[in-house]
Amino acid sequence: MESFEQLLEKSTTVHGHICAGQVIGVRLAMIGLREIGIDDPRGSQRKDFYVVVEIDRCATDAIQSVTGCTLGKRSLKWLDYGIMAATFINLKTSQAVRITAREEARELARHYCPEIEDRYQQQLQAYRVMPEEELFTIQRVAVEVPAADLPGKPLRRVQCQQCHDWVQDCREVEQNGKILCRPCATGRYYRIIE
Ligand SMILES: [Zn+2]
Ligand SMILES: [Zn+2]
Repeated sequence: MESFEQLLEKSTTVHGHICAGQVIGVRLAMIGLREIGIDDPRGSQRKDFYVVVEIDRCATDAIQSVTGCTLGKRSLKWLDYGIMAATFINLKTSQAVRITAREEARELARHYCPEIEDRYQQQLQAYRVMPEEELFTIQRVAVEVPAADLPGKPLRRVQCQQCHDWVQDCREVEQNGKILCRPCATGRYYRIIE
């Protein structure tokens, strides 16, 4: 595993700027991998684990950068919960850990680097050095990973009987005896203009 500083530098390049989210995200991802026994996430163990993120904010880019997991490879899942947390799952051993960034860390940051006046700069520095139990809550969890969520060929492709879009990976729903895509069944985020 590369060092914290090396990983932070990489994630900062990918993300486009250094920010508290990069520091939190890199530390969170390193702990997550450690706790599920992954030390070569981009090499020999790249297919052995899977990450679920619960927010689409700065730290998510750092988690992606450190773990090498991406949406396109299906090794990263995004759940739109708005919670600064991520779960790391070892697919070989079923070990899983959910890590949440503690809200209290913002206040605790004052005790570190008190010489820095700017609150944001203070947090940025403090998050590098604060002990992990002050920054994070770590929970052992059990996660059922559906077969349809795993990388590899889609298990199924079916056509929506209403809009005729094709649906992969068992995401279709049955409603009143009809096979539908989720937008047709539960509403869509867009409106067709023509
Ligand atoms: Zn950022
Ligand atoms: Zn449809």
